[in-house]
Amino acid sequence: MNKICDLHIHSRFSGGASKNIDIFRIASNSNIKGIELVGTGDCLHPLWLNELKCGLIESSDGFFYTPKVPYVNFILQTEIEIIWKNNLRFKKVHFIILFPNFEKLEESIELLSQFGNLAKEGRPKIYNSPEKIIFGLKSIDMDIEIIPAHIFTPYFGIFGNNSNFNTMEDALGAGKNYINCVETGLSADPLMVRRISNLNKVSFISNSDSHSPYFHRLGREATIFDLNKVDYQNLVESIRKNKIIKTYEFKPSQGKYYYNGHRPERHSENQDYFCSPKLNIDNCPYCRKKLTRGVLARVQELSDQKNPFKLNFQYIVPLLELISIVLGGSEYDRRNLSIYQKLVAQNCSEYAIWEGKSNFNNIPENLKEAIQKIRKSKFWFIPGHDAVYGKLQFEN
Ligand SMILES: [Zn+2]
Ligand SMILES: [Zn+2]
Repeated sequence: MNKICDLHIHSRFSGGASKNIDIFRIASNSNIKGIELVGTGDCLHPLWLNELKCGLIESSDGFFYTPKVPYVNFILQTEIEIIWKNNLRFKKVHFIILFPNFEKLEESIELLSQFGNLAKEGRPKIYNSPEKIIFGLKSIDMDIEIIPAHIFTPYFGIFGNNSNFNTMEDALGAGKNYINCVETGLSADPLMVRRISNLNKVSFISNSDSHSPYFHRLGREATIFDLNKVDYQNLVESIRKNKIIKTYEFKPSQGKYYYNGHRPERHSENQDYFCSPKLNIDNCPYCRKKLTRGVLARVQELSDQKNPFKLNFQYIVPLLELISIVLGGSEYDRRNLSIYQKLVAQNCSEYAIWEGKSNFNNIPENLKEAIQKIRKSKFWFIPGHDAVYGKLQFEN
């Protein structure tokens, strides 16, 4: 059976996260989006872990729910930042970790506390090599799943410009043998990433990496898995055997790190600058400093094959974001939120709308047209760069 999953989110204990994140909000907003399985985020953090233990009930092996919203399953999930020295330089790379139950999570907490302060932030910094961390976690339980996160983003992606590894082996050593899956991130899609032969043996997933419980962030990217049975073991098997039905994707140019560039705040007169990697411009014409090299540049450098895979994914724009672009105002305006709620109520969930449900009673005509254009992929973005999101444009 197919399940729409978002396996990478954060709690309010992560840096830059909304203070309004709690279990109930995650569950009820996931339900409205159509997300059926969601990560807990930050499960190594003692205060959040305590909330998870008090608020969640096991529904099947390794899956949990809150009684107020029984339709949404949770999975024990965190992101960590591994920091280590490699060839005289410090590297910082993010990994998603999934745990099969609270007991194995507690054992992992004992292990990871030796290398970092887990109480300091929701996404803790861990000071050791990823190879040693992977081996350590796998010796606790082979079903702990470790997934390199947003692998091309410049600062914390394994292949991003700052880490600059060219192969998984270079970064992870023999730990690479335990990696079955990578997260493509918002600024890359399967079309781009499948051109890199070093990744031929791993599956690709997409998640929101949401730092907020709101509808334009939670589940903004997601993965549909084919599960034999709805439990942890079957999810991990789907990840390892690439039983992925499809991913919901941002167009990569919407992502914050697609092109090379410098965002306006870097310059005294607020000039924005971005360019395609094809132009081979390394330094900013305004401040002369090195441009932040985006995801497209790294993917082009590493591409070494035509795409040999049959790919299945769908481009979407978060519906609440689309409403606020088309009708004006922000995602937090009452009017926009009430139109979002009306649309979702008429069609079961947001993802049901992206799958073609079209009950649009009392919905503004221009918004209906915009939804149709997103479904037909008649849109593009002024490319995102240097932490600035892309800007949506419609084709005629
Ligand atoms: Zn991250
Ligand atoms: Zn500049």
